[in-house]
Amino acid sequence: MKKTVIAGNWKMNMTRAETKAFFREIAPQIRAKGGCGVVVCVPFTDLAAAARGARGTGIKIGAQNVHYEKKGAYTGEISAEMLREAGASYVIVGHSERRQYFGETDETVNLRAKAALAAGLKVIICLGEMLDAREKGVTDEVVSMQTKLALRGVSEKELRSVIIAYEPVWAIGTGLTATPEQADETCGVIRATVASLYGKKAAKKLVIQYGGSMNEKNAADLLRMPNVNGGLIGGASLKPAAFSAIVAAANENEKR
Ligand code: PEP
Repeated sequence: MKKTVIAGNWKMNMTRAETKAFFREIAPQIRAKGGCGVVVCVPFTDLAAAARGARGTGIKIGAQNVHYEKKGAYTGEISAEMLREAGASYVIVGHSERRQYFGETDETVNLRAKAALAAGLKVIICLGEMLDAREKGVTDEVVSMQTKLALRGVSEKELRSVIIAYEPVWAIGTGLTATPEQADETCGVIRATVASLYGKKAAKKLVIQYGGSMNEKNAADLLRMPNVNGGLIGGASLKPAAFSAIVAAANENEKR
């Protein structure tokens, strides 16, 4: 796993034609090889086109959800093997929008993560506190518990294929961003929790991203923080210029 990983989350945006146009534009701008890791997580129907468009760039393609069963009567769901076949090497699990709107729980996040890992996918596990928890001063307890529950039964070897995205729910899609200090502090709590489960060495190697209105203007300041090893980017990942500027900021930061 790379030291810094910038991942885009397109959510329910972009048709296949728009996907092709995005990669045509971004491919020459992103020199993912040798720099930070770059992942673009697209809707299921865009996976094949994205994988084709990313060829030769070093950009990895991810999906935004996965079912935990291998196959069967689960109408509307998609398996890890299907994602791999379509060109995904990463998958996001537990995004706050899935937790808020689609009944995702810590338990199903854990099941999805384990199924994806067993199938050889790399997993971006999203977690983060609601505004209420931050205001009540219980952010650390919330993210620590989410981390423990998401990683239940994940082996130390599998942890190498895990990224944790710390995404304060109040900052997602709102234009509000955690301050670099807030992001660093809470990513530090997640790292300490992982250290308590897997040891300090494994925790040090873990990529912990910040997500929540990261953009080309604030990326450098957030990425400079020691516990922030990348970003999960929603809105700004839809714009090739903004996304490649964030990747450039991460590459600059890696040189420091
Ligand atoms: C996200 O979707 O994970 C996200 C962080 O969105 P945004 O960057 O738009 O806040």
